[in-house]
Amino acid sequence: MNSTFTTHKFNLNNGAAIPAIGLGTWQSEEHATCEAVKHALQKGYRHIDTALNYGNEKEVGEGIRASGVPRDHIWVTTKLDNHWHHRVPEGLDSSLKSLGLEYIDLFLIHFPCSTDPQDRSKHLTNWDFVKTWKEMQKLLCTGKVKTIGVSNFSVSHLERLLNDPSCKIIPAVNQIELHPHNPSILKYCRSKGIHCTAYSCLGGHTNSAINTRTELINDPVVLKISCAMEKTAAQILIMWGLQRGTSMIPKSVTPERIDSNFEMDNWSLSEAETTELDRIQTRSKVVGDAWMPIRVFFGDGM
Ligand code: NDP
Repeated sequence: MNSTFTTHKFNLNNGAAIPAIGLGTWQSEEHATCEAVKHALQKGYRHIDTALNYGNEKEVGEGIRASGVPRDHIWVTTKLDNHWHHRVPEGLDSSLKSLGLEYIDLFLIHFPCSTDPQDRSKHLTNWDFVKTWKEMQKLLCTGKVKTIGVSNFSVSHLERLLNDPSCKIIPAVNQIELHPHNPSILKYCRSKGIHCTAYSCLGGHTNSAINTRTELINDPVVLKISCAMEKTAAQILIMWGLQRGTSMIPKSVTPERIDSNFEMDNWSLSEAETTELDRIQTRSKVVGDAWMPIRVFFGDGM
């Protein structure tokens, strides 16, 4: 496989196509976000991932405008936060306002967990993600959203959603934690026509108080292949995901890393290297659910 992943797009079940590589922005501090987004777009990225929860939609929007890249050349994903589940149109409007955009390319339910806006440590009674999805579907006729999807949905969530009579539209995307230490439910999603975007694909943040940094980037197999191929460990991890058919959204605010994470053309992992990465037995996860009132991650690699 001799790839040109920087311009590649993965087809979605609604006819849209999502750029294979995007820039993640969780824990990008406000002051750094605008520069990172601008730099990435000027480098050639055409996909930016944010969320109301990251508190930086405003700076993402500023970065988009500062880049000079036309809006319709860019794929923007944002996410409905847990305490907006019963107010979906308002949640979307709030994100559009912060971003300063007229539409979102992909709007995701961030977690299958609705919380009470008055007390976010409480689950919202009489509301669940099936009702939220019913509201998400209605957004498609407003012109404010092109594609809808979910995030952090396990097999049991998806089964419940897809089997509910109110579910008329299959989510186009499930954005989940995916890397060799957490290979997760890709096969299942694919069988339902749902594309997966891989988050925390480098193993999460250095120096973060709110999540763990896994040992992924120093995994001996990753390092061995990285040495042999003269590529960075991050590039090996990104290429592994791209070749599995998942869109990848590595986060960085460091210009050199933003650049090198995008150098994904004209090389590839061999079948033997991919298999070696597939066979890594270590398991670790960056994002947990202890901060939410209900459990969302179950035993299917989620
Ligand atoms: P990543 O796995 O992308 O890792 C980010 C960390 O890796 C940062 O500390 C970054 O540092 C560092 N880094 C980036 N490039 C390199 C490199 N080439 N070499 C060494 N270190 C590097 O973590 P995230 O958890 O942020 O996941 C990526 C994105 O996925 C998020 O930003 C967000 O957009 C999305 N996400 C979605 C979630 C969801 O619930 N839907 C949950 C978690 C993430 P620095 O910035 O200092 O360069």
